Amino acid sequence: MELKLIKYDEHNLKSIDLGDGLKIDRNNISLIAGPCSVESKDQILEVAEFLNKLNIKIMRGGAFKPRTSPYSFQGLGFEGLKYLREAGDKYKLKIVSEIIDPRDVETAHDYVDIYQIGSRNMQNFSLLKEIGASDKPVLLKRGMNATISEWLMAAEYIALEGNDNIILCERGIRTFEDYTRNTLDLTAVAVAKELSRLPVIVDPSHGTGRRELVIPMSKTAAVLADGLIVEMHKNPDEAVSDGFQSLDFNQTKKLVDEIKKINDCIRY
Ligand code: PEP
Ligand code: MN
Repeated sequence: MELKLIKYDEHNLKSIDLGDGLKIDRNNISLIAGPCSVESKDQILEVAEFLNKLNIKIMRGGAFKPRTSPYSFQGLGFEGLKYLREAGDKYKLKIVSEIIDPRDVETAHDYVDIYQIGSRNMQNFSLLKEIGASDKPVLLKRGMNATISEWLMAAEYIALEGNDNIILCERGIRTFEDYTRNTLDLTAVAVAKELSRLPVIVDPSHGTGRRELVIPMSKTAAVLADGLIVEMHKNPDEAVSDGFQSLDFNQTKKLVDEIKKINDCIRY
């Protein structure tokens, strides 16, 4: 496997500069949190205020939702992106949101700070190329059925268009194990850090699909990964999507406290 643009070079490790002194790289553990879906303006403002209090600097929220069933909530679309931007500006948070259609990339540019490419779209080559031609950082999730090399090759598609501000995200893969929604492949994190010069983060929410496993797997991943992206909700049981794997506000605070301890001990 030949990786031209993002191949490992320890002297040239990639630091993703989000502006305002905020960087995602191998020097610390970045925390990204927020709901699976943007549900309303009030919800997003309340979450943003809470994240700001916790000193979390990056908020996630899905406005375009790639749902298994066409009858499930599909997201608020650009309306949702507007709420995210407004809340991000008010509470000084950077915004990550998934784009699923190459035709939306340009319009979304003004609303997001990081484009998310979801697991189901990891090999949507037109989307990879369109986002690769933009100047915004990209969070590239690993396809649930993708090998590590396919994942890295997807990153190459983006980089080849000129944008190598890529954050790799391991979010679990499908295996025979069905107690958890996916099998969180932490080995892939070590491999991706070995083969590429990109920061690699972990999504323990989709990686496990179980709320009670999110903190334990976050702590485990924090030793190796460069960041975490975690789903949270004020009332997880009422969330329109992925409530079963979302932390509530208290659990989110606990997560932050635990990760801080690990960060202090690993990256001293
Ligand atoms: C999400 O982040 O809400 C999401 C749909 O994730 P994934 O693409 O990893 O399934
Ligand atoms: Mn989700």
